[in-house]
Amino acid sequence: MNPSVLVVEDDPQIARALLVNLRARGYRTHRAATGRQALQLAADEHPDVVLLDLGLPDLEGGDVIDGIRGWSSVPIIVVSARHESQSKVDALDRGADDFVTKPFAMDELLARLRAALRRAQPGPGEPVVETSDGRVRIDLAHRAVTVAGEPARLTRLEWRLLEAFARNPDRLIGRSELLTSVWGPGYGDEANYLRVYVSQLRAKLEPEPSHPRYLRTELGMGYRFTP
Ligand code: CA
Repeated sequence: MNPSVLVVEDDPQIARALLVNLRARGYRTHRAATGRQALQLAADEHPDVVLLDLGLPDLEGGDVIDGIRGWSSVPIIVVSARHESQSKVDALDRGADDFVTKPFAMDELLARLRAALRRAQPGPGEPVVETSDGRVRIDLAHRAVTVAGEPARLTRLEWRLLEAFARNPDRLIGRSELLTSVWGPGYGDEANYLRVYVSQLRAKLEPEPSHPRYLRTELGMGYRFTP
């Protein structure tokens, strides 16, 4: 299947130019005009690459990068009119892969897009993450979880939370990072959501949910997935 591109751009003319050129070269396309739409489409459509305008009507582009990076390593190319070097540095620090300044030459942008896709290619697709005791198996490509060989039924939010953990094994993930990546920007303070969903996941995955082995609480900071 041809690679799919999520175009995040609020300017209708620039968006149209991008979509026309991408489709003409065989890419599949999705378009978001706001940051919230971008986060939703990134989660629903799993694009192969994201073209992200930093100046969006609802969210800072950097928050969109944070939201996507919480659970996905999809290449993100920032396309922005902001010339200040600080916003480029900030976008790259937050996990963007490349940066194109508007106005841009379409050929250059397409070349960078191909390069980003090539860099993202080498893996054999999405990994399968398995706990060291073999009990829990998380298949990211097929969005499937088995516990002791039996399929586990997760809600959409439980899955997104588990996906964020599975992509960051052994790393302390802060509460606000998890909240932003799973629930979206603006939820950074809702630590109670996180407690509820982590305990639901523990009930479904852990041998002893009250003494979690895989989903550990780091008191006052966040959580760590120790597969
Ligand atoms: Ca804009």
